Amino acid sequence: MAATLLDGKALADTIRAEIATQVADFTHRCGVKPCLAAVLVGDDPASQVYVRNKQKACEQNGLVSQLHRMEAATSTGQLLERIDQLNTDRNVHGILVQLPLPKQVDSNRVLDAVHPKKDVDAFHPANVGRIMQGRPLFLPCTPHAIQQILLRHQIPTAGAHIVVIGRSDIVGKPIATMLMQKGPGGDATVTVCHSRSRNLPEIARLADILIVAIGRANFVTGDMVKPGATVIDVGINRTESGLVGDVDFNAVRQVAGAITPVPGGVGPLTITMLLHNTLLAARLQA
Ligand code: NAD
Repeated sequence: MAATLLDGKALADTIRAEIATQVADFTHRCGVKPCLAAVLVGDDPASQVYVRNKQKACEQNGLVSQLHRMEAATSTGQLLERIDQLNTDRNVHGILVQLPLPKQVDSNRVLDAVHPKKDVDAFHPANVGRIMQGRPLFLPCTPHAIQQILLRHQIPTAGAHIVVIGRSDIVGKPIATMLMQKGPGGDATVTVCHSRSRNLPEIARLADILIVAIGRANFVTGDMVKPGATVIDVGINRTESGLVGDVDFNAVRQVAGAITPVPGGVGPLTITMLLHNTLLAARLQA
């Protein structure tokens, strides 16, 4: 039997409506709208689309968005100066530095400069440390999106074996950390696989929940999935046949119990969690 489709678009609409209500309430009580400042360096077309989508989502849900465009030749020092201005600007609650930054920029220095209370991507070492300790200020957007998909579809994580394929700082590492914490959406037994893992297909087949974030089109095939498992596909790969995930969707949906599509799975929820974090940042600073 084909797997249940975990519709990220529908869930994003539900959560965005909840956030819009909370934003309206915050604005009414505090007399200020939560504001996200996006910093975009250079003119990478994909980055421009991502930033535009984030801004649009802010505006549709009652938040304010600012776009700070800087030219491709911007230095680390110039970017640090801009971050400093945004850190002290009382009208700005969340700061997002769109990645990747040009080669000449020291990305770590720039991300470390964002004030932890405005760090809506949760990349600052202080925020990463807090997540590790199970007392987060912000949760990073894509891992939070994955956790919401599991929670809101009542897919139990407690005691489940969850295999994460990919160990990036943005997805793999934080989602693995979050899933092993105590509490709702956690308490899992987590295994992390990566490019150097031996016997990856065998490990993947042990998963009750398989999360894939590697950026390799159709990497996970039907024989790598335990019958009935939940499969969360984070990958976004541009191919000749359009956007595809890291999971061979048509083959895996015949084996899995539930699966996220690409597009329309994790993606729409990631931006939703950015709105959530911007509201949270505004509350922290109110
Ligand atoms: P990344 O390139 O930073 O990291 C990729 C990881 O995959 C690495 O840890 C590497 O060890 C692992 N990997 C690579 N090849 C592998 C292999 N053959 N076997 C096992 N592991 C392998 O990637 P990222 O930033 O985590 O992004 C991963 C994918 O998720 C990309 O397609 C990206 O576009 C997508 N993504 C989607 C969203 C979303 O909102 N849906 C958000 C972030 C990233």
